[in-house]
Amino acid sequence: MAKVEEIFNILGKNAKAEDKKLIEKAYHFAEKAHEGQKRMSGEPYFNHVFETAKILANLGMDAMTISAGLMHDVLEDTPVTEEEMQKEFGEEIVFLVNGVTKLGHLKYHGHERHVESLRKFFVAMANDLRVVIIKLADRLHNLTTLQYVRPDKQARIALESIEVHAPLANRLGMGKLKGDIEDAAFPYAFPKEYQQTQDIIESQKDLYDKYLNEIQTELEKELKKNKIEVSEISSRVKHKYSLYKKLVRYDMDISKIYDIVALRVVVDSVEDCYRVLGLIHATWRPLLGRIKDYIAVPKPNGYRSLHTTIFTGSGGIAEVQIRTKEMHEEAAYGIAAHFGYKENGDKKKLDEKSKFEWIEELKDLKEVANEPKKFIEHLKTDFFNDRIFIFTPKGDVVDLPEDSSPIDFAYNIHTDIGNHTTGAKINGKMAQIYSKLKNGDIVEIITKDSATPSSKWLDYTKTTIAKKHIKSYLEKNSLLSRLKSYGKWR
Ligand code: MN
Repeated sequence: MAKVEEIFNILGKNAKAEDKKLIEKAYHFAEKAHEGQKRMSGEPYFNHVFETAKILANLGMDAMTISAGLMHDVLEDTPVTEEEMQKEFGEEIVFLVNGVTKLGHLKYHGHERHVESLRKFFVAMANDLRVVIIKLADRLHNLTTLQYVRPDKQARIALESIEVHAPLANRLGMGKLKGDIEDAAFPYAFPKEYQQTQDIIESQKDLYDKYLNEIQTELEKELKKNKIEVSEISSRVKHKYSLYKKLVRYDMDISKIYDIVALRVVVDSVEDCYRVLGLIHATWRPLLGRIKDYIAVPKPNGYRSLHTTIFTGSGGIAEVQIRTKEMHEEAAYGIAAHFGYKENGDKKKLDEKSKFEWIEELKDLKEVANEPKKFIEHLKTDFFNDRIFIFTPKGDVVDLPEDSSPIDFAYNIHTDIGNHTTGAKINGKMAQIYSKLKNGDIVEIITKDSATPSSKWLDYTKTTIAKKHIKSYLEKNSLLSRLKSYGKWR
């Protein structure tokens, strides 16, 4: 039985009374709205939204987001209206729930080259990163009940999760969520490869556990001797899908992979990280080329940690990861680590070195992370307000700069299409190829073999790729015509 106390337990004793009140109200509201509805598994529908809310609570999201998570299917799947919800919970929660509903209608077509655009579109549509995070939690729970979905749909949903949702979680620095989504989707997306990976883990795990146990005992002794406080030493098993991807990179040669199981050492300060590393290297011989300082040089998604791989002495090899508590939380929760309940309820500073490769604007969050109001406000800004998202008739999405034309779109699909564009249909109607496209337009390019670029096109293109191809065509062509007229003149 679902009980609201389960959520409170996750929040811990620092949860504020008013937050609990909001969550409890949303809990009862959603429970009543979904009354009598069942999932494919036969269990009450409410279980799904309840589990989604629990995932959000575990990620450390704030009460507003958890409440929106509880009610995320209410507007779409129950008779409850927007007005009713607004009256009870206010504008902001309705905004979040509407955002999640909107994202649910996005169609996915697995065209490799447009998947990145789809990810961006996802974020742009959401308008607020909290909406994205609720959607990711919703997806994770749906994946865990995928066995009840029609088999032909299973693979599509699983693949979409791996190509769109997991990378998004990764971009937000939410490593745990990313790994959980991938691992839940893996068996449905790639059943054979999943089994293969599973077998490899089974065959190796005991061996690595043995190696790690050996060094853990000795390391604990050394740490004590050197008076280094450690808040946690534990071994972690690599996420299955990420192990699989690594196996592929190493021609499925398991003997080249040393981090199936790794020892994780969590300490209080950066200085201690390096002291522990020194201690480990003084005790065991490290493998050359395997020492990685992601503290000095973090990964693009902000991940920080020291990694080293050592010979255990008994013929084994083991990886050790050393980090502070703060780095540990950031690695697992990413942007969610700055919402609320983790760590004594304090908002922690986003570290100076956190870097988000893709959502560049997120960098600004560093400055506002300490001011909760501003922080939330910032999440709502348009991350891609100077981009528009244009669809092919098949539903693939291409992202272009604002004011792009069908010519830009054509060149972004393929050079040959661009070079032979003669007309365009926008949302099913014939239109000028010089028209300005609007966000969400569906564009069909009409080509003719005899059609060629003209210099006028340069005035109606925004993308470098289109300009480049037009210019190169014109250059080649003017040379050719000069040569031709030269021939005639002679
Ligand atoms: Mn849902």
